[in-house]
Amino acid sequence: MRRIVVTIDGPAGAGKSTVAKQLARRLGYRLLDTGAIYRAVALVAHRRGIAWTDAEACAEVARALDITFDFVGDKNHVFVSGEDVSGAIRTPENSQGASQVSAHPPVRAALLDLQRRLGEGGGVVVEGRDTGTVVFPQAQAKFFLTATEEERARRRVAELGSGGDYEKTLREIRERDQRDASRDVAPMKPAEDAVLVDSSTQTIEQVVENLARVVEERAGVTAGR
Ligand code: C5P
Repeated sequence: MRRIVVTIDGPAGAGKSTVAKQLARRLGYRLLDTGAIYRAVALVAHRRGIAWTDAEACAEVARALDITFDFVGDKNHVFVSGEDVSGAIRTPENSQGASQVSAHPPVRAALLDLQRRLGEGGGVVVEGRDTGTVVFPQAQAKFFLTATEEERARRRVAELGSGGDYEKTLREIRERDQRDASRDVAPMKPAEDAVLVDSSTQTIEQVVENLARVVEERAGVTAGR
């Protein structure tokens, strides 16, 4: 059985993380959350008093980033220099920070090798914005997962629990997508050979099932176990 590289790109709130995690588990693949890497850079920069607009200083942070991932039960934990930052990187403020630092070409350049190293050898599900276009252009199975803005905002609010404000979340999602899709370097867009998947009208289970079929076909494994 060939163990291939699977990429899942798409906007915030499309369900990438959940789908990627379940797909990886089903296939027995590793999971690489590239958004967590940009989030970690934003967090470290902020803690050091570096502005997210300072491309060179943020790139320095990216070049020296010591990041590791580890599953604790069902959750993919993120460690920076040994500290568990899983919660700290996911605040709405740090999400905007990640989107800002990720627009700087030297930051993206600094993280390219790191991502390729982490995905080396195949047998990996990689999720992000440019993983099928830039990071792993040779990936054997590429997906672009999306959903309507409203549905994505609803999901984010549900995740945030009682503290979630729908209108504010919708605004933040629009702002982040706009920035991610319009930047000059590695903008978020589907790879030409990506399979487009709209998750608005499907359950997570259906999406995972559909993606798994495609992966199994591409990996040369008989589908429909
Ligand atoms: O996927 P997640 O929401 O965790 O990503 C956080 C931010 O990191 C995104 O808004 C995007 O700006 C950036 N990102 C990126 N390229 C990737 C993954 C994430 O620019 N491959």
